[in-house]
Amino acid sequence: MTPLHLPLHVLKFGGTSLGSAERIEHVGQIVALAAGDARIVVVVSAMGGVTSDLVEATRLAAEGDEAYLAVLDRIIKAHDEPLAELPSEQDREQVRAAYQVWSEELEDRLHGISLVRECTARTLDTVLAFGELVSSMLLASVLRKSGLDADACDARRLVVTDDAFGGARVDRESTAERFRGHFAATDTLQVVTGFIAANPGGETTTLGRGGSDYTAALLGADLPADRLEIWTDVDGVMSADPRLVPDAFPLPKLSYDELMELSHFGAKVVHPRSVHPARERGIPLFIRNTFNLDCEGTLVSED
Ligand code: ADP
Ligand code: ASP
Ligand code: MG
Repeated sequence: MTPLHLPLHVLKFGGTSLGSAERIEHVGQIVALAAGDARIVVVVSAMGGVTSDLVEATRLAAEGDEAYLAVLDRIIKAHDEPLAELPSEQDREQVRAAYQVWSEELEDRLHGISLVRECTARTLDTVLAFGELVSSMLLASVLRKSGLDADACDARRLVVTDDAFGGARVDRESTAERFRGHFAATDTLQVVTGFIAANPGGETTTLGRGGSDYTAALLGADLPADRLEIWTDVDGVMSADPRLVPDAFPLPKLSYDELMELSHFGAKVVHPRSVHPARERGIPLFIRNTFNLDCEGTLVSED
């Protein structure tokens, strides 16, 4: 068993941090470094752009537009390079075999949607799960290469929601129970799929776009963790959206209330629902830049 005195840190990496084989490798280095002095739980989004492409492919297929095939091709190509560059040979074979199964399933599902020319929110959620399932498997493999005992973890086994496909509500009690049971029984570093969950009948649901932050915050609150880190592509929470306001500046410290307000008014750097679980347990939340490790980012706490 892992020594109990080690603090527990939940680290979440968004799609912006997982855009290519090189970036996944870089995230692997950040995790390996963090694992030196804490017990780590990782949460991942799909690779950058993949969820949006899955939505687009589904929309086109439902319209009976063959252009969905080109989008599907782009999704497959986005994963080709990281798959080819997986470090260990044995791992590569296993990961490729699982990828093969999932990508064939995705292809079949999209084909089915194009035949019936209809896609329910239920079916879309099942399609979207592909992104996080693959990215978690890729990062776990990269971590194993750096000597960590790591495994991908499908959050559909842990996060229990209602049937509101596309933006499901989490059953906090059952989810917390499953989290605690799962993490008490393993010492292997878990790379958990963000965003995806399941209803009590085991059907795939999702937590709404950007929902991986929420998965991470739930884990942070329920385990509970000593800190929650959201790793993204900007130096923290900024005074305004840096894509719209070029002279926006990073805010070193914020209270939970301030972050909640900012995220409700469009600072989409953190999913608004993720603030509440962190605040409820007083867990310090750090927003950090994967591409600028020298920057300490934003610390969100009660103060
Ligand atoms: P990730 O893939 O890491 O989850 P997101 O795209 O969801 O990344 O969130 C990060 C993006 O949020 C940044 O690239 C930035 O453009 C945007 N953003 C919007 N408002 C803000 C803000 N106030 N502070 C920081 N980033 C913001
Ligand atoms: N992959 C999902 C999305 O793009 C969830 C997330 O990134 O948080 O919305
Ligand atoms: Mg996000």
